Amino acid sequence: MKTITTIPELRAERAKLNGSVGFVPTMGYLHEGHLSLARRACEECASVVASIFVNPTQFAPSEDLASYPRDLARDSRLLEEVGVNLLWTPTPDEMYAEGYQTWVTVDEVTKVLEGASRPTHFRGVTTVVTKLFNAVQPQKAYFGQKDAQQAVVIRRMVQDLNFPIEVIVCPIVREPDGLALSSRNTYLNPDQRQAATVLSRSLNAARDAFLAGEHDAHKLRALITEIVNAEPMVTLEYISCAHPDTLQELHGAVERALLSMAARVGKTRLIDNIVVG
Ligand code: AMP
Repeated sequence: MKTITTIPELRAERAKLNGSVGFVPTMGYLHEGHLSLARRACEECASVVASIFVNPTQFAPSEDLASYPRDLARDSRLLEEVGVNLLWTPTPDEMYAEGYQTWVTVDEVTKVLEGASRPTHFRGVTTVVTKLFNAVQPQKAYFGQKDAQQAVVIRRMVQDLNFPIEVIVCPIVREPDGLALSSRNTYLNPDQRQAATVLSRSLNAARDAFLAGEHDAHKLRALITEIVNAEPMVTLEYISCAHPDTLQELHGAVERALLSMAARVGKTRLIDNIVVG
């Protein structure tokens, strides 16, 4: 695996790749969730490019940009073991040179859920993903269902801007006790780590209720809220029962829905979701 930093180097290495190119964008501090994307890309594509870039423009000033965990040596080893061909680790200066002022925004689907709590987040995501796509020019790009809204937003952008890229969304990888893997789980102390299982427990309870015939959107939201609120160490930020593609909140009986939430465990903000129906 070759590791490169600058866009000219990336373009030169990209030009040498024959056949289909898969791309796995990440912010690093890799876990099995990221690696599941890289493995799938290696299975499906002749060559795979991964990027590690803690993108400053998707963090609000109050968020954890400075403390976001990093371990490039370990990440490189893991990606190499999986079979990734090129690792691109751009610097913030490379991506946002002095005078930078160009943004890509996606409209309706970024206003709700994560976008309502983090108003500048998706503008940062869509801008950086556009820049990464332009440089890597992959045929396929791999994202995780863990960030369900991000997947919807990227699909929308790829369709709207006619990127010749197939977006592949991979299932959420979880710990044995249900906690969705996240680089931010490292912020949790042992008690918080235990309490954090309430996110997946509440979503699973809602899925079970759905399978048992409870299709009322309001009641599904209420069930999740009740379970999370019973855990004193966890504070719910939002709970949603939304259309999986438009992300608009659903009312009354639902056939298919994205149940998603954000919650704080201490200072750590966690998200999780499940699709029912
Ligand atoms: P991040 O480094 O957090 O930006 O994540 C990079 C990619 O990995 C995104 O497409 C995430 O959705 C995906 N990802 C993160 N955690 C998981 C997980 N637990 N399971 C599957 N994919 C994940």
